[in-house]
Order: sequence, then structure tokens, then C-alpha cells
Amino acid sequence: PFDVLVVGGGPAGATAAIYAARKGIRTGVVAERFGGQVLDTMGIENFSSVPYTEGPKFAAALENHTRQYDVDIMNTQKAAKLTPAPTEGGLVEVELESGARLLSRTVVLATGARWRSMNVPGEQEYRNKGVTYCPHCDGPLFKGKRVAVIGGGNSGVEAAIDLAGVVAHVTLIEFDSVLRADEVLQSKLRSLPNVDIIVSALTTEVLGDGSKVTGLTYTDRTTDESRKLDLDGVFVQIGLLPNTDWLKGTVELSPRGEIVVDDHGRTSVPGVFAAGDCTTVPYKQIIVSAGAGATAALGAFDHLIRTGTP
Ligand code: FAD
Repeated sequence: PFDVLVVGGGPAGATAAIYAARKGIRTGVVAERFGGQVLDTMGIENFSSVPYTEGPKFAAALENHTRQYDVDIMNTQKAAKLTPAPTEGGLVEVELESGARLLSRTVVLATGARWRSMNVPGEQEYRNKGVTYCPHCDGPLFKGKRVAVIGGGNSGVEAAIDLAGVVAHVTLIEFDSVLRADEVLQSKLRSLPNVDIIVSALTTEVLGDGSKVTGLTYTDRTTDESRKLDLDGVFVQIGLLPNTDWLKGTVELSPRGEIVVDDHGRTSVPGVFAAGDCTTVPYKQIIVSAGAGATAALGAFDHLIRTGTP
């Protein structure tokens, strides 16, 4: 069996594996796609000490770094079931979709998340060409330009407030007839001079010129009329979906499906830790996930010491 089995090969999982392996304990990583969301990222400019890199380069560096240690990497393997240890300090079982069963004294869950998309024409085509999901990552790229934020929940309204300080103009678009964000955020948003708010609007298409976004169309749900906005960017903020369906009923999840963790990365199941975008950690960022991966691995090591191994 492993001492630490990591599920997920993004920044959180890779960092957890490096920290575990450096303790000289048996470490494995199961990843559906080693690198994680970073593989879909273009420029990365907010990982301190690295002023600029690109997603695929960052992902390759994560994998190379992990491979410098004695880590058993099982790539393109998906975990399907977790069975808690039958007794305190016993072995946790992770079953893969292939049917293989892996046993480990501790497990670090780092399966990440994915952005909910609008599923309208143009959205995929112009992804990273004006369509983006991360204001903290891409806001500065739209300095002095016009953007829309899709979604009037807390994340959408926070994004609109944040972007209003960076870009020339923000249009916030909400499907419902009212915004759902906290009142304090809504009043802050309404106080900003360079923000328009459109409610009861269904976004129908992202428009572009073949190489970049030029606008979007939406249907005004009160009149059924179609309208068009000229834009340089579209920030989609309609939810982040954690990859935790396979854990339902086993590990405590928040109402949003995030794995509930404490400050040591512990979950509700003894010996099972979690890190990164799949957890309740606030702020879903590379550097935050990597830090959480280190915490979870050290939490797992601490658990091993206390339960008798190594
Ligand atoms: P992920 O990166 O999501 O990795 C999850 C891992 O788990 C993957 O290896 C996946 O294949 C695997 N996995 C999932 N389910 C299973 C399963 N059942 N079994 C086995 N493996 C599984 N953040 C920044 O800080 N700066 C940026 O500039 C930036 N830009 C971004 C641009 C885009 C387009 C996107 C999508 C995100 C961006 N982010 C950025 C966010 C950042 O990528 C994430 O916060 C970070 O990757 C989260 O790391 P993670 O390890 O928690 O999860």
C-alpha cells in the first residue's frame, strides 16, 4: 500500500506529491489529466517569482518536478470510488474506473473544478480570445477596454466591481430579474460610474471577428427582443463546479459540492485530506491550490506519525 495516495495532478495534487515524497514515504498520484486546469490556460502572470509563463509550460514543469522524486504517477486514470478505512489507522481504498483498487494509509483528494459555461455559440471558439472565466487572472489584459460580466451572484458582482477599477466599462448581465449578490456588493456596484447592469437578459451568442471577441447578443426576456453589445471581453461567472460527484455520500461536501476541509486539510473521513479547487478553500487560484496541497500532504504526514506509521 501507499502511505500517501494523491488523487489529482493539478497544482494542488502535484505539490502534495512533492511534499509527501520528500518525507521518504510511499507516494502515488492518480490523475485523469496531469496538469489539470493549467493545461487550458494561456498566460500566467500571478505566480510569485514567475512574472510570466504559459499553462502547458507550467504543467510540464509541475510534472518534471514531481518526477524528480520517487512518485508512482498513474496518469489518464480516473478515481471512481473512495472507501474509508475500516478501522482507525487502517487502509483507505480508492477504486479506479478501470476497476483497479489502490490501498493507502492516507489519501489527498485534489480533483479540482471546472467553470460552468453558458453553452452558447462563440463561447468555446473565443475562449482565451476574449472569453474568460477568471477576473483575477485576466482582468489586466482588458485595461482600458469594454467588457461584460455574465452572472449576478456574488462572484459576478465581485468580478464586475474588481474589473470596473481596471477596464474602461463593465456591463453586468443577469438572467434573473434581480441580482442575487449580497446587498452590500450590489450597492457598491451601483455606485460605480462605469458600470451598467442589465437584468432579465439571456445571453445568446458571443460575437467575434474570427480572432477575437467583438461583442455579444442577448434576449431581453421582458420583451423577447434581441440586443447586441460591442465588447472586447466576456467574463463568465455563473459557477465553479467541483469534481466531487464520485465522493457524494462518503466525504462531507458543502451545498456547492466542495469538500469541507479544516485548516490542516482534513476532511470528515479520518486519514483523508483534500486540497485546492475541489475544497471549500476561498479563492480558486494556482498559488492558493499549490499551498493547500503542501498543507494537505503535511497534514497527512502528521496523521501517519500519530497513527503509528512511518
Ligand atoms: P485542477 O487544476 O483542476 O486539477 C485537478 C486534477 O484532478 C487534474 O489532474 C484532473 O485531471 C484530476 N481529476 C479530476 N477528477 C479526477 C478523478 N475522479 N480521478 C482522478 N483525477 C481526477 N489561476 C491562477 O492562479 N492564475 C491564472 O492565470 C489562471 N488562469 C486560468 C485560466 C483558465 C482558462 C482556467 C480554467 C483556470 C485558471 N486559473 C488560474 C485557475 C487555476 O488553474 C486553478 O485554480 C488551479 O489549477 C487549481 O488547481 P487544482 O490542483 O486544485 O485543480
